[in-house]
Formats: sequence, C-alpha cells, structure tokens
Amino acid sequence: MKFVVDCMLGKLAKWLKILGFDVVYFSRAEDKDLLSLARKEGRLLLTRDHRLQDRARDVRVHFIASENWKDQLGQVLEELNLWGLVNPYSRCIDCNAELKNLPRRKVKNLVAPFVYEQATSFAICPGCGRVFWQGTHFEDMERKIQEILGPKPRKLRKRKRPKINGPGKNICPEANEKGSS
Ligand SMILES: [Zn+2]
Repeated sequence: MKFVVDCMLGKLAKWLKILGFDVVYFSRAEDKDLLSLARKEGRLLLTRDHRLQDRARDVRVHFIASENWKDQLGQVLEELNLWGLVNPYSRCIDCNAELKNLPRRKVKNLVAPFVYEQATSFAICPGCGRVFWQGTHFEDMERKIQEILGPKPRKLRKRKRPKINGPGKNICPEANEKGSS
C-alpha cells in the first residue's frame, strides 16, 4: 500500500513511515501535483480536504475524519485493514527508502565509537546514506507505538522482530515531536 498524504496531515505521514509504509508527503504542494503523483505512482491519497477529495475523480482517495493524528493513524490502519503490514523502522523517515541491514564490521567508521560498542544492530538508508541503529530511544518509541496501536499490539508482537529496532539519534522522531503534540 503506497500513499501520498495531503499537506495538512504531516504527523500522520510521519507515523505511517515509522510503521514502515511507503509515504510521499510535502509540507507544501498544489492539489494538482498531489493528484498527478497519486495517478502516476498508483498511490492512495489521504486527505481531510473535501474539495481535494471531490477533485480526485481518477485517483483513489481516502478521507481522514479526525483532527487528531493518533485517531487518524488508527482510522487508516483499521479501515484499510493494514494491521498485518505494520513493520516498524523498516523505512527511512527522511527519504522513504527501505532500509538495508548493515553488518557490524561495515559500521565501525560510520558511527561514533560508543554507538558502535552499545548498539546491537545497524541498517543504512540507500536513499540518503544515514545509518540507523538500535539506540536508547527504542523503548520510548516502542511504548508510543504500542499506545497508538491500542488493543492491536498483541498481534504485532507475534510478528517477527523488525530488522531495525530504532532510528539513529539524529532523526529520532521523538525529538522532532517535542512541543508539537
Ligand atoms: Zn534516507
């Protein structure tokens, strides 16, 4: 399931990416460009804008009801039946590329020494080259994901562990969220 997300749904876009979905989001974009991208790449358009929804005649569109991003995320997962596809931290939240596992021996010169010593698994984004690792944010993030996913996380736990357990320090979504939630 690939998405293009309307400008007013930035947090929803970010969290869909954290959960592993292919998401294109611009903080500013013309309606016609969003529609054209949805059409060209076969993406489902998520929007809270009735006018945009009406204009989306030849692309698939899903109207988001709530103003609250957690409810929005729940709505998308529930109504589009995506619970089984949730795979946290499998995608770069900056450039949307799928992360690739990086063997430990290849990481040594790419991260700070304490990271190399403490982290247990690493991955790299083939898009922007950022290295991700299991870090101290992991537990916070995990808790937040469980909280967002509500009664469903039991299902999530049964799945195999995601390849990547946490984003690197620089791009920890938690850090970006302070003051905006
Ligand atoms: Zn990237």
